[in-house]
Amino acid sequence: MNQFRFSRRPDIGGRLRVSFEFFPPKTDEMEERLWQTVTRLEPLGPKFVSVTYGAGGSTRERTARTVKRILTETGIPAAAHLTCVGATREEVDAVVREYQALGIERFVALRGDPASGVGSVYRPHPGGYHNGADLVAGLKSIADFDVSVAAYPEKHPQSPDFATDIEMLKRKVDNGASRAITQFFFDNDLYERYVERVRRAGIYVPIVPGIQPVHNFRQVANFSSKAGAHVPAWLAERFEGLDNDPQTHALVASAVAAEQVMDLVERGVEEFHFYTMNRADLAFAICHMIGLRAQAPAPVAKQVNSAAA
Ligand code: FAD
Repeated sequence: MNQFRFSRRPDIGGRLRVSFEFFPPKTDEMEERLWQTVTRLEPLGPKFVSVTYGAGGSTRERTARTVKRILTETGIPAAAHLTCVGATREEVDAVVREYQALGIERFVALRGDPASGVGSVYRPHPGGYHNGADLVAGLKSIADFDVSVAAYPEKHPQSPDFATDIEMLKRKVDNGASRAITQFFFDNDLYERYVERVRRAGIYVPIVPGIQPVHNFRQVANFSSKAGAHVPAWLAERFEGLDNDPQTHALVASAVAAEQVMDLVERGVEEFHFYTMNRADLAFAICHMIGLRAQAPAPVAKQVNSAAA
């Protein structure tokens, strides 16, 4: 490594864009913690933040409330995740209109997983949207929302092959999605190869890497196998023996995520999406390392009463 590396250029932070993902808090205490996280990350000037949607719509109100609060109390553009699993089109459209009435204009459109759990067989609701692509079309028929979708560098576990997987991504983009956010991954070569395949398929929207700081290795490893994200042996080795040593675990997690993000910057990636788990520390530290600095909060827009003002 030397000082001429791309990721060490002093102007690099000005070129990078980040977004942060949160989940809707269940209790007042969790809400307080989320709010501290939002307040800490806001000055980094994220392009947007997003709030997940619980399986089968279980967080419909909490997701809406959280997005609405972010929109009202910060200057950050905020997106609501939305799934179509287990609901009719009319039910999903009603949620969209409810969100729209609250001022929500950005969505992350997802199929979702069956109530029986991630990894079990998916069956579309007979009167529902069939998949992510179908949901994007539904959203766009209601209004010209900003729509992001999911992408899978290791292919979705239910996709028989990459061609089928990328064909679904193409349908989502053809139906109006303007960016894809990837499932988390730990091997940057897989991401790079995936982006090459996507471009070869004629898909030109940003494929934003989803970065998962490893707050808890066991949890991430358990979820990975179901989500279709491979945990390399070297990663397991780095966390080996740290289950009862949270301080070292956190330091290792920080080093692992920083190493991954720096390497992606070296490969020319300029946009990142962080799965924050509602915690600011790791995401903030990594953003700092790649040169992002707190900006002064944007001035609150004032009412302009005269054309000359
Ligand atoms: P789709 O794109 O519809 O399908 C996924 C894959 O399955 C496709 O690539 C396709 O190849 C295959 N497939 C689908 N239908 C068929 C078919 N008929 N025949 C053959 N193959 C088919 N889940 C939540 O519940 N709430 C969230 O907030 C949430 N946020 C997420 C955010 C991101 C960035 C990501 C990556 C995932 C998120 N998920 C969330 C998880 C997501 O719901 C699951 O991964 C789900 O299994 C797939 O959703 P999708 O929109 O990618 O599905």
